[in-house]
Amino acid sequence: MVTWLGVPPFPQAATEALADDQLRANLAHATGHIRRKRAAAVAEVPDWENLRERATAIKNQVLSNLDGYLEQLERAVSERGGIVHWARDAAEANEIVIRLTRAAGATEVVKVKSMATGEIELNEALAEAGITATETDLAELIVQLGQDRPSHILVPAIHRNRTEIRDIFRATMPGAATVSDEPTDLAEAARRHLRRKFLSTPVAVSGANFAVAETGSIVVVESEGNGRMCLTLPQTLITVMGIEKLLPSWDDLAVFLRLLPRSSTAERMNPYTSVWTGVTPGDGPQNFHLILLDNGRTATLADEVGRQALRCIRCSACLNVCPVYERTGGQAYGSVYPGPIGAILAPQLQGGHDKQIDSLPYASSLCGACFEVCPVRIDIPEVLTHLRAQAPKPVGESVSMKGLGWIMSSRRRYEAALRAGSLARHLGQRGINALPGAAGWTVSRDAPLPAPQSFRDWYRENRS
Ligand code: SF4
Repeated sequence: MVTWLGVPPFPQAATEALADDQLRANLAHATGHIRRKRAAAVAEVPDWENLRERATAIKNQVLSNLDGYLEQLERAVSERGGIVHWARDAAEANEIVIRLTRAAGATEVVKVKSMATGEIELNEALAEAGITATETDLAELIVQLGQDRPSHILVPAIHRNRTEIRDIFRATMPGAATVSDEPTDLAEAARRHLRRKFLSTPVAVSGANFAVAETGSIVVVESEGNGRMCLTLPQTLITVMGIEKLLPSWDDLAVFLRLLPRSSTAERMNPYTSVWTGVTPGDGPQNFHLILLDNGRTATLADEVGRQALRCIRCSACLNVCPVYERTGGQAYGSVYPGPIGAILAPQLQGGHDKQIDSLPYASSLCGACFEVCPVRIDIPEVLTHLRAQAPKPVGESVSMKGLGWIMSSRRRYEAALRAGSLARHLGQRGINALPGAAGWTVSRDAPLPAPQSFRDWYRENRS
């Protein structure tokens, strides 16, 4: 599963979210701020469009030769003392993490913020196995302590304001019963809480932003330093990485290290970029395990239109410009992947059909703002319409579309339909907003009344 169990289809979830004024205010404030900062950071780079083109080409090359690069990565990691595991799905990946944690004699792990482990619901699987996972990214920690769900790729607690965060800390964090809602006090309380965990937990679990195939190096970028602590202090490090995160070389990595920070946090460079290659004796974790996760990626790769979603570097720029996301919040999408990228990636990774999954490609206005900001030029509107075409349709819609196809495939029939539309205008002054038997369409879509005379008829009269 990629989507959360029990979440209703998007229209229903969005309707509930729209009724939450506080949620909308928090989101509008936060995304507006990030959006303006990103635009300024991008405007500083004169060759931004070239960088986007280059990054797109690199990712396409990787996807076209994924098997070879994965084997190259496996060889390089193994030669440098790491152990590579292959996981077909979430269950296999979770089972490997549990087994490795137990083998290390641990009942606790610290975690670096990771979309892949959220996707496979690793924390829940660990809890079932009696292992406690502590999120160490501040926003992830807020979500975890509040027994909440994330609502943004980069800022999972974006739907919370500082008063709500204070209340969560007071209720759940040891030693934080009187903390104020000042951001510095909240950060200090979290820092003290996490410092104890960093120093006492023998196993860390991370994701990966990138992996360099030529050397077997894994890269994590972050802003708080919590990742650096997790990646260096514990004796055992387990990294769960989607198989699409590969880059061929360090030169390629340089392109993405310019694109990602400006697209995500609107920074010129990340405060922390951690890179490690296998195991270094006497320095850092002495056991390194890399779990290569498929979980629907191979099936996505087989789809010629949809595979571009695998270029995603999880920067979240598309979320911050999306008018639908800003009004509904991320939880309405029902997975760790909200917003425009979630509307395509979650159905692709999950595969199959159900009401919630099939509703996601419609969670978009198709305005194209997501495509314009995407650093790897994923044409999200194209994939959305592609997925919409694959979803099962109500019988009425299929019949009407077939009828329309029949009419529009013949000039004679099309012109007759135009005249009939024009006649309907004169008869009843009623447009498509009152189309009988199509309430699902006409309740939210309106169209102008047909013109008194079609362009074809006007052309015949005046120009032929
Ligand atoms: S689809 Fe593009 S803009 Fe959206 S998160 Fe992925 S890389 Fe960023």
